Amino acid sequence: MSETIFTKIINREIPADILYEDDVCLAFRDVNPQAPIHFLVIPKKAIATINDIKEEDREVVGHLSMIAAKIADDLGIADEGYRTVMNCNEFGGQSVYHIHLHVLGGKLLGWPPY
Ligand code: ADP
Repeated sequence: MSETIFTKIINREIPADILYEDDVCLAFRDVNPQAPIHFLVIPKKAIATINDIKEEDREVVGHLSMIAAKIADDLGIADEGYRTVMNCNEFGGQSVYHIHLHVLGGKLLGWPPY
């Protein structure tokens, strides 16, 4: 798989506003926020899309949601609520082909998202 900008963020080759890191994942604020709070949780393993998640990735992918909730709590938005989104391919609106969980909050979000 070709390297994306997110691999460069993991490797500290380009800067990001990092909120959390462990052996499995990295979380950082989205550079183009769509809500007052908008951050991304990404696996350190480069998986291109949801379609490419394998059985062996089960724990990694579950970890992303757990860490999203932990950071939301740290930022004080857990109780009021927030949204997590993982876009897939063109119709899903994916532009970076390294899976990432968007976490959006800090305001009452509309639904449906179109
Ligand atoms: P979209 O770009 O349509 O939202 P994705 O779901 O693939 O599609 O989301 C990629 C996200 O990555 C975007 O929200 C974008 O603002 C964010 N992003 C791109 N480059 C950076 C960067 N260098 N630092 C932080 N966020 C980034």
